Amino acid sequence: MGGPEIERLIGLLAKLPGFGPRSARRAALRMLQQPEARMVPLAAALTDAARAVQPCNQCGNLDSREPCSICADPGRDRSLLCVVEGVGDLWALERAGVHRGLYHVLGGTLSALAGTGPEDLNVAALLARLESGGVAEVILALGATVDGATTAHWLLDRLRPFGVTVTRVGQGVPIGGALDVLDDGTLAAALRARRPA
Ligand SMILES: [Zn+2]
Repeated sequence: MGGPEIERLIGLLAKLPGFGPRSARRAALRMLQQPEARMVPLAAALTDAARAVQPCNQCGNLDSREPCSICADPGRDRSLLCVVEGVGDLWALERAGVHRGLYHVLGGTLSALAGTGPEDLNVAALLARLESGGVAEVILALGATVDGATTAHWLLDRLRPFGVTVTRVGQGVPIGGALDVLDDGTLAAALRARRPA
């Protein structure tokens, strides 16, 4: 079409979530028509983010600070720990402003189908946080799926020895993975409707 550079650009864009070949071509064309205004700043932002952003050692959130901005925030309630499947769920809860405590990102759920076992999840760091004390309640905001439920039960057994209150977000609320598409009111309701696990 217009040389290997354009083909490569479209090929890379088409791999992004929400993109296909058609939207990749549209995005590439839009950028190529204003390279200085659109492409150069984007390239710089991509490079900067790739170099600076890392998973937080404490909670698993993605941030250019260590610990992340949430873990470092003195205004957060450190006795309240919300366990989520992925960073996307954390972002959704933050956007909705419904959780005033800290988070812990598991990095997935147990899944026989996907071959995800306990060793693949960020659980050791979670237990270490409980070990160091100060946490009164762990909120499990995991998917209302079979894998989410399996993971919640499995976690409950591991959390029990620490004597903390463990709650689960409202059942029947489509949470986990799909958290991102929920409106803020639904998210807030889900978190308010948490009950003992
Ligand atoms: Zn953190």
